[in-house]
Amino acid sequence: MFDQKDFAKIVSFIRDLYHQPEGIIPLHAPVFRGNEKKYLAECIDTTYVSYVGEFVTRFEEAIAAYTGAKYAVAVVNGTAALQIALIVAGVEENDEVITQPLTFVATANAIRHANAWPVFIDVDHDTLGMSPSALQEFLEENVSIENECAVNKSTGRRIKAVVPMHTFGFPCRIDQIIALCRKYNLVVIEDAAESLGSFYKGKHTGTFGLSGILSFNGNKIITTGGGGMIITDDKTFAEKAKHLTTTAKVPHAWEYIHDQIGYNYRMPNINAAVGLAQYEQLVSHLNIKRKVAQTYKVFFENEFSEITYIEELADSHSNFWLNTILFPDKISRNQCLKYCHEQGIMIRPAWRLMHRLKMFKQCQTFNLNESKKCTAKLINLPSSVIV
Ligand SMILES: *Cc1c(COP(=O)(O)O)cnc(C)c1O
Repeated sequence: MFDQKDFAKIVSFIRDLYHQPEGIIPLHAPVFRGNEKKYLAECIDTTYVSYVGEFVTRFEEAIAAYTGAKYAVAVVNGTAALQIALIVAGVEENDEVITQPLTFVATANAIRHANAWPVFIDVDHDTLGMSPSALQEFLEENVSIENECAVNKSTGRRIKAVVPMHTFGFPCRIDQIIALCRKYNLVVIEDAAESLGSFYKGKHTGTFGLSGILSFNGNKIITTGGGGMIITDDKTFAEKAKHLTTTAKVPHAWEYIHDQIGYNYRMPNINAAVGLAQYEQLVSHLNIKRKVAQTYKVFFENEFSEITYIEELADSHSNFWLNTILFPDKISRNQCLKYCHEQGIMIRPAWRLMHRLKMFKQCQTFNLNESKKCTAKLINLPSSVIV
């Protein structure tokens, strides 16, 4: 159905878009054109490069204000943020946590780091995020309520939490997920690692559930090198998350007393210095990414009617972290991948679905038709901020 000429057209479109006639075009490269060096120099001059210092607090306050969350706790990366959010939410050993198979491995890893077991349910074909109807079907068929807890009838384990993920920056139908979880007494922790700057019905992703997590890895929309954030409106939750991620040290001027086995998951001040400078450019990054997305959309709609360009839902606002298209079939998708990589264009397929990775093979799955279909046909397009 597609031939070399079609793929060549895609390649030359991407090269034009990024004003880069040759060389490698990465999937998502970080952009530093603000106060990064200035804040780093300030940070180093104070000698407070580790845990103490003002940049961590300033960065937390900026993210809280932007997302509308009351509290934000900076941590060492997004994976650690999710692990801690689950623990603070009351997830215990051998509990189950419902999530989606179409996600980065960090989501499922963090659930296991919290000693719980992921259960994988399907995504919606249009948002690529957790499907509320799949969740409803799963809960109706598999769950009984015992002592106000949701219990999985087939494993006998307690289901404590649900972790929807806003895939590639596209908000999922989070309000419907929240409503269902309320009915079944399940805690919602949103994996918003990819969706800083994405809103659903005017509210920032990651602020619908009890807590949400963000990532500032190098490939995300803004970066601290490595870093993450736990956001929540719940004061006690935020305090517990801060305590647990800072070695559970009891505040005291000189005594070293710890009241729990804590974690050293603090974000160093030097990373927060970069983060604050990056944050100042967030709105500009979002505006540029929206234009890139619009350009891709028009191109694919005009040139390739067989290709589906994934759009934001009418009532949502995506950060367009990674632009995404679906080919009509796996064969043409794979041919395009091969051709583009040979030409230095770093498009990529979706992650291998979680239940197919050997660590998660024994985990329960429930009708993953859409996840499988999308994964076979999907590619992410280069989506960096154009400089
Ligand atoms: C990036 C990402 C994370 C967190 O990754 P870190 O590299 O640990 O910051 C978690 N979940 C998803 C879906 C991600 O894309």
